[in-house]
This record gives sequence, structure tokens and C-alpha cells, in this order.
Amino acid sequence: MYPSRFRYEAPRSLDEAIQLLHDGGGDAKVLAGGQSLVPLMKLRFAMPELVVDINNLPWLDYHRADADGTLRVGALTRHADLERSELLRGSQPTMAAAAPLIADPIVRNRGTLVGSLCHADPQGDWASVVLALGGSVVAQGPRGRRSIPMARFVTGPFENALEPDEVAIEAVIPAARGTRAGGYLKLERRVGDFATVGVAVAIERSGDIVSRAGIALTGVGGSTIGATDAAAALTGKPLTPETISAAADLAAQAARPRTDHRGSAEYKRHMVRTFVERILTRASGHEGASAERAA
Ligand SMILES: Cc1cc2nc3c(=O)[nH]c(=O)nc-3n(C[C@H](O)[C@H](O)[C@H](O)COP(=O)(O)OP(=O)(O)OC[C@H]3O[C@@H](n4cnc5c(N)ncnc54)[C@H](O)[C@@H]3O)c2cc1C
Repeated sequence: MYPSRFRYEAPRSLDEAIQLLHDGGGDAKVLAGGQSLVPLMKLRFAMPELVVDINNLPWLDYHRADADGTLRVGALTRHADLERSELLRGSQPTMAAAAPLIADPIVRNRGTLVGSLCHADPQGDWASVVLALGGSVVAQGPRGRRSIPMARFVTGPFENALEPDEVAIEAVIPAARGTRAGGYLKLERRVGDFATVGVAVAIERSGDIVSRAGIALTGVGGSTIGATDAAAALTGKPLTPETISAAADLAAQAARPRTDHRGSAEYKRHMVRTFVERILTRASGHEGASAERAA
């Protein structure tokens, strides 16, 4: 199917992009990688009157660490850039584990992390990763710039906290206060598919003690789920078989899976538990990423 008729603009400044969105009211949409928006337009689930393409703003294509270790991922950074990133491999095990598991190479070449957060698909992998890491999204609009914590950014399935005339310009991951470990595990029907179950775990440790923990779940509820009780159960404790098992139980309880063609609710809940336990067990033995696809 072809999209319905729309006006296309490719502004050369952020101010112009914001003005176009402002003038377009609720009928304008930002285009980044187009890997979610274009299919939705072709199916006519999305019928914007105006599409504001931000790809003429190349300065939004970056990912870098500030002096204190804060990571910034610009709105035009593609999944593939993150998959290849030495910076992520060296300092962000949860992100490094997730990047190769997003879709397929063609989608990864165009799609963006920030676009994925904005799209707010309950099966989107990056939302869980950024939530587990305690990240945020920086938005810019006619009233200036503001930072929205990831925990408040996704407001429901395919809904985010942006105003219609705001552009998300970057995702921010706070600097670690201790040694970072964690991973992302994803159950998918076949390589390149959306998650049947995805689990992001990010921990920081001072010595043996977990100083900060974040656990978030993909595809097992109406939107991305922060397993806050599971994360709290780890904080201030060492990773032992007992603390790991308790956190895995609490994460499974936080899941809200539904039985569908991908599997029973019981099976999905079981996989949440298994993935949390697996990532934490690996982290307890050695620091670093745990990336794998589950068959
Ligand atoms: C075949 C296929 C398989 C896929 N598999 C997966 C998968 O396994 N896991 C996964 O997580 N994702 C998957 N995706 C989605 C993919 O990751 C998209 O790239 C991503 O969801 C959206 O990023 P984008 O840059 O393409 O955004 P776009 O499609 O350009 O935009 C998506 C939405 O976000 C808004 N938006 C985008 N950028 C901004 C911005 N800077 N400011 C404000 N609003 C913005 C748009 O207006 C639109 O509403 C898949 C997509 C396809 C086509």
C-alpha cells in the first residue's frame, strides 16, 4: 500500500524543524531512520499531513562520553553505529549486548536509538536498555530544552512524553558510580524478529556490593516494564545465588505477559526469570557483556 498524501520538508536547522512541527500542530511527524514510521504510513496506521525529515542535521549523528563518563547518543545515531562502537564495547555492556539484536542489518543501518525510544513500541529493545541504565531523553522545542527521565518518557504503547512540536535530540546515559556489568538477552522466533521476551540488566558495583541496579523487560506487557522491586532487591548486596534468585523471582512477577502465537504467558514469565538469572550469574563471575540470541 502507498501512504496517504503528505507534505515533506527536510529542514537544515533544528530551529526550522521545530517551527515546522509547531506550525503543523498534531499532524506533523519527525522522520529519523524511517524504519517504523514509513511502514506505519504505508499501512495507513499513521497518516501525518507533514513529515519533517531531520536527516539534514548531521550534527545529531554522534555518540560520545563526557569527561565524567556520561554517554550521549544523538538523534541520528544508527543502530549499526552502536553495534560497531568501541566506546560501547568498552564501557556499556548492556548497550553493547543489545545493539546487534535489534532487527536485521538493513534496519540497523537506518534506524536510530532515539527514534526507537520515541516510537515506544512495547517490543522495542532500546527502551528497556535505556530504562535499566537510568537514562533520559533530551527534547528541544519552542519553549527550550528539557530532559525527560526514561521512566517517564514512555507514557503507553506507542506513546511518549514529547509535545508535538518537540524534537528528541539525544539520549543520555548517566556515568557509572561503580564498575558496570550487565547484559541484554532476547528470545525471538527467528533472527531479526521483535522480542518475544527481552531482558535488560544493568548493575554497578563498588567492590562486591551492588551500588545501583536496573532491570527492564521488553515484550511482556503493554509497554516497557521497569522491574523496580527486582532491582531494589539487589542494591546494597553482593551478587550471590540467593540474591540473584530473589531478583529473578521479582522480575518474573513484574512481567505482564499474554498468551499469544509466540508462547504462553507462563513460558514468557519463565523466560524473564531465566534471563535475569543468567545475566546476573555471568556478572557475578566476571565483568562484561553477555550477548546472545536465545533459540
Ligand atoms: C523489519 C523490522 C524489524 C524490526 N525489528 C526490531 C527489533 O527487533 N527491535 C527493535 O527494537 N526495533 C525493531 N524495529 C524497529 C526499528 O528499530 C526502528 O528503527 C526504530 O523503532 C525507529 O527508529 P527510526 O529512526 O527508524 O524512527 P522513525 O521510523 O523515523 O520514527 C519512529 C517514530 O518516532 C518518531 N521520532 C523519531 N525520531 C524522533 C526524534 N528525534 N524526535 C521526535 N520524534 C521522533 C517519529 O515521528 C515516529 O513517530 C524493526 C523495524 C523493522 C522495519
